[in-house]
Amino acid sequence: MFNGKLIILSAPSGAGKTTIVKKILERCKNELAFSISATSRTKRSNEIDGKDYYFLSESDFKCKVSNNEFIEWEEVYKDLFYGTLKSEVEKIWKNNQHVIFDIDVKGGLNLKQQFNSNALAIFIKPPSEEILKQRLINRNTESDENLTIRLNKVTEELTFAPQFDVIIVNDTLEQAIQEVELAIKQFIGNQ
Ligand code: 5GP
Repeated sequence: MFNGKLIILSAPSGAGKTTIVKKILERCKNELAFSISATSRTKRSNEIDGKDYYFLSESDFKCKVSNNEFIEWEEVYKDLFYGTLKSEVEKIWKNNQHVIFDIDVKGGLNLKQQFNSNALAIFIKPPSEEILKQRLINRNTESDENLTIRLNKVTEELTFAPQFDVIIVNDTLEQAIQEVELAIKQFIGNQ
């Protein structure tokens, strides 16, 4: 029987993990599928409901929490909820694919604890805290208020890195992608 695995990519906001996940999915589209999370945050103009996230109202999100529909969920920023639906992961495994996650550091470690050797937890680290903050500012996706909230969280998030299986520094994007791909292929191949 197919033994579905979890590939977890976590990083502070702005470290480049979403870009890396997208590139990895292009290169490994047969083996891997993206876990679309549910969130209560508002959709950005470049995002598609049901592709980037399942965008839910806060009350719908909380209803799913009470119904025990999440494998993990976090209030990543104050009053903004993000979570992985059990149904999403089961659907992907049924399709004989491994699941790749783009989730926050606490959610990533939560999944690692639940699934142990069936999960590979990768931390994407920026070359420095300063560079990360500059990238986040340049990305220009957030309001000033949200930007400040994200910047303030970076220092705390970086302290979680040593708890991950693999740390990959995103200095040059192409090299980081190659290193992530190699780590994933070794993990999938070795088990
Ligand atoms: P963003 O608002 O920039 O899309 O995401 C904010 C943070 O929430 C990112 O670190 C992202 O990886 C994380 N995130 C996205 N989906 C999930 C999820 O299902 N669970 C958890 N715990 N974090 C998530």
